Parts: sequence; structure tokens; C-alpha cells
Amino acid sequence: MDNAIVKALADIVGAENVSAAKPITEAYVTRGIMEVKSNAPAIVVRPKSVEEVRAVLLLANEKRIPVVPHSGGLSGGEATPMRDGEILLDLRRMNQIIEVNPDARYMIVEPGVTSAQAWRYMQTNYPKYRAGVPDGAPPSATVMGDHLDRGFHFFSTRYGPAADAVLGLEVVLPTGEVVRTGSCALPTAKWFYKWMFGPDLTGVFLGAQGTLGVVTKMAVKIYPMPKFRDVVAFGASDWEYLVEPCLDVLKMEFVDLAQGGNHYLATCRRARYTWPPPQKPPFLPTVWMNFELGAETQEELNAIKNRIFQTLQKYQKDYGEKNIFEWKLDARNIGARLTKPNRISVPYAGHKGGGLLFITWYVPWKDSAKFGKEAEKLMEKYKFSPVVWLAAVDHGRQGLIMPIVLFDPKSNDEFDKVNALDAEMTDKFLEMGGIPYRPNADIHAPKTMKQTVGYFELLQRLKKTLDPNGIMHPGRLALLTEGC
Ligand SMILES: Cc1cc2nc3c(=O)[nH]c(=O)nc-3n(C[C@H](O)[C@H](O)[C@H](O)COP(=O)(O)OP(=O)(O)OC[C@H]3O[C@@H](n4cnc5c(N)ncnc54)[C@H](O)[C@@H]3O)c2cc1C
Repeated sequence: MDNAIVKALADIVGAENVSAAKPITEAYVTRGIMEVKSNAPAIVVRPKSVEEVRAVLLLANEKRIPVVPHSGGLSGGEATPMRDGEILLDLRRMNQIIEVNPDARYMIVEPGVTSAQAWRYMQTNYPKYRAGVPDGAPPSATVMGDHLDRGFHFFSTRYGPAADAVLGLEVVLPTGEVVRTGSCALPTAKWFYKWMFGPDLTGVFLGAQGTLGVVTKMAVKIYPMPKFRDVVAFGASDWEYLVEPCLDVLKMEFVDLAQGGNHYLATCRRARYTWPPPQKPPFLPTVWMNFELGAETQEELNAIKNRIFQTLQKYQKDYGEKNIFEWKLDARNIGARLTKPNRISVPYAGHKGGGLLFITWYVPWKDSAKFGKEAEKLMEKYKFSPVVWLAAVDHGRQGLIMPIVLFDPKSNDEFDKVNALDAEMTDKFLEMGGIPYRPNADIHAPKTMKQTVGYFELLQRLKKTLDPNGIMHPGRLALLTEGC
């Protein structure tokens, strides 16, 4: 990068917060988690304030240098450049919890506030409430990154994707304007309401993958922590037997979190990820679903559990007790599930050098058996152990189905195989009516965008209006792949 630009950036954020040194820039490359494509930035810039973010964007816009916002980088390749010569805006120094309002029940965070920090802060200062942190992600994942990226948090079955909990944003546009969306657009109003009196402009920036501006403040809902909690689980001999009974339970709208998967997921978490895949151990069901429950009193919790078991008994009459049954969890299992943030994903890092890709899709819950089976078939075709996770969002209006691929990040052949699987699965799942959860740049976004009815054209018009020089994270969401 041009020395004059390096100097101008150092003048904005201080020389100690700018680096073009290869050991630093290369350290940001993460070919996995949500995106296997990842380039090292030309330079890393670490602002501390909104004013510094604004000054960096004004300079980048004038010089036509692409900028990638990076809150915690835990989405992997998605928070790194698609091409050479870009600025990575590392926002981790902006890590203040600005306000917690226990009456209107929101928390205002800067980009660098991590899940662990938010959790600890609430436990210490507001023990009755919790922030919606991603259920399985490492503690360094950020509240802002996860809400921007429509994450799955530990109350998502009850309250929907994390982005549904956003009540307002402060955004620096690539052209330097600082805008606020939601009720906080009025300086006299608190951050208590997602809407202004006009259309919802908060939603424009959610799911945008950093392509429209840099979010510098976000208000998110906080949730009461139930006093009494428990987990019950259904096991089944096939995906087909699991889906309908779970849907009946989910429709009662009292489950906090429902998630499960197939027996390959359970053995993979017990440190067995092999090809050919391991046989199902006799103590595991073929597929299962946990229901995390909470209530204010033990009686209320018991009543909820009774209704779940009544549903189970009804289906056992139709399907047979071998096909759908209670999977009795031991105290250790229940404790592991109820500990938040949990450590459920830790074992993934121990396989094959730690390469990990979540290929995640939103599907109508009722269709999740079909998607689960198709995912297993395709993974086996490419000789990956068919590890599949399934969760319910918004009381089962949606299912989140996630084939998990572990691979050797040192092998280009493995990357090619992962991409070939992802491409074939994308064609199939689009045909079956699914929607990619966090679209990657080369497969999901182009394949999906070209099928939309007017959506992509409208998004392109928005992009041109907000980011006329195309400096914000070019290439994401199939936007401006041809350059600025
Ligand atoms: C083992 C493991 C388990 C996981 N489990 C879960 C889970 O249970 N639930 C879940 O939801 N996720 C999970 N994740 C995914 C991920 O860790 C989280 O979703 C995480 O919160 C997103 O990463 P981040 O906060 O570091 O954001 P980043 O990776 O920094 O950013 C995410 C996206 O938003 C953009 N962006 C970031 N900051 C800004 C900003 N300030 N302004 C504009 N754009 C911005 C980035 O460019 C990127 O496109 C898991 C990941 C791992 C590795």
C-alpha cells in the first residue's frame, strides 16, 4: 500500500494501530467457519472512536480503497477481504457497553463487545437478565457481529434470529455521514424501538455483511433468565419420525431453545470424525432433538414437561415406541446444555488440523427431514462424515439445518472437495426451497441472487446509492464483483 496512505491512516488512528506487516495481516486469514475464501488485507487499521471510523472511510472513499469491517472475525472468511489491496477495519478496540436499560430491556454495544464480556457484565450488574449471545460460538464472538449476521442465540427458538432483537443502529456510511435508525434517530428518544415513523431502515444493514456501512453502535434486546430450567429430549429412528412431534411441541410456543441432530454429530463431539463414518453406538438415537425449557416456578416447568410428554405419547401410538421416544439425558448432559455460553463446539477444533465449515440453510421446519436426508446423502457422496445439526427458530416457523464439514486446512484438494460439495448442495437445496443462512461469496450468493424476483436489483440500487464508489466489502452478496 502507498506510503502516503499508510501515513494518513496512522495520522487518524495512531501509528501503533496501523500495520501492513505480513505476520499481522496474514494472521487475519481464516479459511473456514462460514466462508472458505479469505485473503490477507493489505493493511489493518484499528480505530477507537466513531470519528476515527468516519475519517478512515472518508479517506478510503476518496482513494477508492475497499474496506472490510471486522468485529470479532468469528464468522471466518466472511470478515476478511475477497481480493488483494484492501483495508481491514478491526473494530475490537471499540468495546464499550454504553447502556443497559432493564425497563425497556435493551443493551447498547459497540462492535468489539464480546459474548463473554456481555455475559459477565449482565451477571455482575443485572443478574436477572441476559444478552442474546450465540449459543455455540467461542466467547470471543461479538454481540454486534452475531446480531448483524442474523445469528442463532440461546433464545432463538423462542424469540427468532438474533437480528430480530436489534432495536436501533448507529452507522457510518462509506461517504462519511453518521446515521441512526429506529427510535434513536431522534436525539431525545431512547433506543427502545426498532422503527422510526417511516420504513424500517435498521433492517437494511442487518445481513448486509458489511457491504453498506460500518455499524458503530447497536441496541439489542436483553431477556429475563428463567428461575427454573431443564432439558428434555426426543430420540427417533429416522428424521421422518422426529419432525412432526417436534413441530407439535414447538407450536405450543414455550420452548426456549430446540436443537439436535444425527448420531454422527454426537460422536463427532465425542472426538470421532472419520471416513468411513463411525457406526451408531447403541446408546445413541439415530436423530434427536433437545428442548431447553424455562419457567418462573417448578409447577409451571412440570406443566410444560407434561404437555411435551403427552405429545410424545400421542405420536408413539401412531409411529411406535421404537421410532419416537424420550431420550433420557443424564445430569452431565443437562448441565452442559444449560451452561451458557456453552462449550459444545470446542471438540470440532481437534480434528484434521481444525478446518471447519458450517454449510447452513434456513428451511421450513416441516421440510427439515427432507433436507437432513439429502445433506447426509451428498456428504457421503463426497466422502465426508454426514454430520448434521438441526435447530428450530421462531417456534419452528423455520428450521436451521447445518451440515458440518471438518477438513484439513493445509490441503488444497480438501478445499476443492468442500467447494464441490457446497456447490452441489446449493443447487439441490435452492431447488428444494431453502435459503442460505450466511451466503458465501462464490457459491451461495451468485447462485441465489440470480434467482430472486427483483430483490437483487433493488439491493444493487441501494448499494449504488449508499456506497457509490463500491468501497464496502466488495464481492460479498454478489455485489460489485467487477470492482469499484
Ligand atoms: C465453533 C463455532 C460455533 C459457532 N456457533 C454459533 C452459534 O451457535 N450461533 C451463531 O449465531 N453463530 C455461531 N458461530 C458463528 C460466529 O462465531 C458468530 O456468529 C459470530 O458472532 C460472528 O462473528 P463476529 O461476531 O466475530 O463477527 P464478524 O465475523 O467480525 O462479522 C460478521 C459479518 O459482519 C460484518 N461486520 C462485522 N462487524 C461489522 C460492523 N461493525 N459493521 C458492519 N459490518 C460488520 C463482517 O464484515 C462479516 O461479514 C460459531 C462459530 C464457531 C467457530
